[in-house]
Amino acid sequence: MTNFVFNPVETVGLQVAGTEAKFPVRRIYCVGRNYAAHAREMGFDPDREPPFFFCKPNDPDSVVPVGQEPVTIPYPSLTTNYHYEVELVVAIGKAGKDIAIENAAQHIFGYAVGLDMTRRDLQMKMREQGRPWEIGKAFDYSAPIGTLTTLKDAGELNDGKIELLVNGEVRQSSTIKHLIWSVSETIANLSTLFELKAGDLIMTGTPEGVGAVQKGDRLEASIEGLNPITVNIV
Ligand code: MN
Repeated sequence: MTNFVFNPVETVGLQVAGTEAKFPVRRIYCVGRNYAAHAREMGFDPDREPPFFFCKPNDPDSVVPVGQEPVTIPYPSLTTNYHYEVELVVAIGKAGKDIAIENAAQHIFGYAVGLDMTRRDLQMKMREQGRPWEIGKAFDYSAPIGTLTTLKDAGELNDGKIELLVNGEVRQSSTIKHLIWSVSETIANLSTLFELKAGDLIMTGTPEGVGAVQKGDRLEASIEGLNPITVNIV
């Protein structure tokens, strides 16, 4: 055992449906503007440019595992434009680099519903200044993620309804089929930049309809075939 000067943080685990075991989270990669209608609402032409990526921290303060029960997350500091983004989360179960599109599915452990919570005002400000997005994207409690369903149980997800409700009202509704870069294409591209390892998560991007939430709001996120999540903002 290493003699650390203080106890290191524990690895975050996501529940795996149908087992007692947890999936240990390594890195969290996020895809930007991966649905055409969302790219348009953010002021961009959704031409099929190469995908681009950013990361979220994988520490226990950033990732919020969500089971069947609703969880609460605090409204973050220094924002007045705090947004939800419902996303399909892909969990990697097998390492690889320069993965071919046709082999990408072999690297998938499973899928979950996730929220890429965003301080939109800070993200935009950084974007305008050509600075990194971290303060808009990579803050504490910014990644609520549901129970994982294994690839074996879910099958390969290339379609299926993705939806987000705020206080019972539908705000985002699309299908996985509308991803500009499919899950396999995303894995292939990302693996040319980083060697993917078991434990990595990929948040694949959000469809149109993003918007602000306030303290007291209830977010319900779902993807057909996966475990839905409910998150309350306090
Ligand atoms: Mn996102």
